[in-house]
Amino acid sequence: MATNDYYRTLGVARNASEQEIKTAFRKLALKHHPDRNDGNKESEARFKEAGEAYEVLSNPEKRRIYDQFGAEGLRAGGGGRGPGGFGGFQNADMGDIFGDIFDNLFTDAGGGHRRPRSRRGADLKYATEISLEEAFAGVKVPVNFDRTEVCGACGGTGARPKTGLKKCPTCRGAGRVQYAQGFFSFSQTCPDCGGQGEVVTAPCVECGGSGQEKKSVSLNIKIPAGADDGTTLRVSGAGDAGLKGGDSGDLYVQVRLKHHPHFERDGVDLLYSCGLTVAQAALGGDVQVPSIEGEKVTIKIPPGTQYGKVFRIRDKGMPHPGGKQRGDLLVKAVVEVPTDLTPRQTELLEELGKTFGHEPPAKEKEEDKSFFKKILG
Ligand SMILES: [Zn+2]
Ligand SMILES: [Zn+2]
Repeated sequence: MATNDYYRTLGVARNASEQEIKTAFRKLALKHHPDRNDGNKESEARFKEAGEAYEVLSNPEKRRIYDQFGAEGLRAGGGGRGPGGFGGFQNADMGDIFGDIFDNLFTDAGGGHRRPRSRRGADLKYATEISLEEAFAGVKVPVNFDRTEVCGACGGTGARPKTGLKKCPTCRGAGRVQYAQGFFSFSQTCPDCGGQGEVVTAPCVECGGSGQEKKSVSLNIKIPAGADDGTTLRVSGAGDAGLKGGDSGDLYVQVRLKHHPHFERDGVDLLYSCGLTVAQAALGGDVQVPSIEGEKVTIKIPPGTQYGKVFRIRDKGMPHPGGKQRGDLLVKAVVEVPTDLTPRQTELLEELGKTFGHEPPAKEKEEDKSFFKKILG
C-alpha cells in the first residue's frame, strides 16, 4: 500500500539518516502546505501523509517497529503510545521543524503573515518648466499638487478617536489566530483585524474610515544648477502616504526647459548662431556675443570666415551637474547675404562685383514687363 510506505511517501531510502528524513519532510511540507495551496484537497492529503510518515520515521522507536512490523505493527499499539499510534501531534521535534520552516518562509517572503497589512503609498509625478537661465544658476520652484496623507483626526486608524476602536474579538487583540489543519495547528494573521489586534466600531468622521485624506500641498523644490530637459528629481517620501503605517511613496519632479531665444543646449555646451555681414566675414574683426550670464563676450573673427565656422569660448557653457566645471559656448558664424540694399550699398557691391569680373546685372527692360503683363493679364 503506497500510502503506508512511509519511506516512499517521503521519497527517501530505507536506510535514510535522520537528517535526510527531516530534509525530505521539510521539502514536502513546504510544497503541500495548505496555506500555499489554496485549500487544494490533493495537497492537503499529501501534506497529511507526509506528516504521518515523518512522525513515525523521525522517532527511532516507532521507526524500528515500523521497519519490523509495518504500519500494522504501530496500529496494534506496538509503538507504546496506546491505540491510534499517532493520534496527536505531541512530538516536540515537529514543532521545531515547523517553527523553522514558517519563520523562514514568511520572513523571507516579506513578512506577509507576521506584520500588519500595510501598504506603501503611491509615487507621484510632477513636471515643471524652467528657463535656461534658471537651469544655469539653479532655482527653487514651487510645486503644488494633491496627495494622500494620513488622516489628522484619527492618525490613520480609520476609527473615531478614543471610542472608535475595540480589541478584536476574533484574536483577542493578538493579531494572529490559531487554526488546526489535519494534525497540525498553525497561526496566521487574524482575518478580522488584519493583524492590528483592534477593530473599528465607529469610523472616523473626517476620513470615513479610510484613515487617509486628500491634501493640497505646496513644496519648494530645489533644482540644481546644470539641470537639463528631462532631468528627474526624486523627493523621497513626498508622495502619497502609506496605508496602515506603510512607507510614503516618492515624488518625482521632471524638469522641462523652456525654449530660449538665443541659445540651444547640447549637453553642457551652449550653441549660439552669430549673424555676420558679408563684410565682417570677409574682413574679420571683433564681434560681441551674449553669454548665459547676461554679459557680452568679445570674439575675434578672422578675415575670410566661412559660413558655419564654429568658434569655441571655453567655460561659458552650462555647469556640469554637481560639479564646478562648465561647458563651452560654441559660436557659429552665420554669414548673412544682405537684402533691401540702399542705393549706396548697391553701388558699392556693383563696384565690388566688377573687381571680381562680374557684369552688373541688366536692368529690367520696360517692354519685357509689358510683355509679361499681357500674358498674365
Ligand atoms: Zn480619520
Ligand atoms: Zn483580530
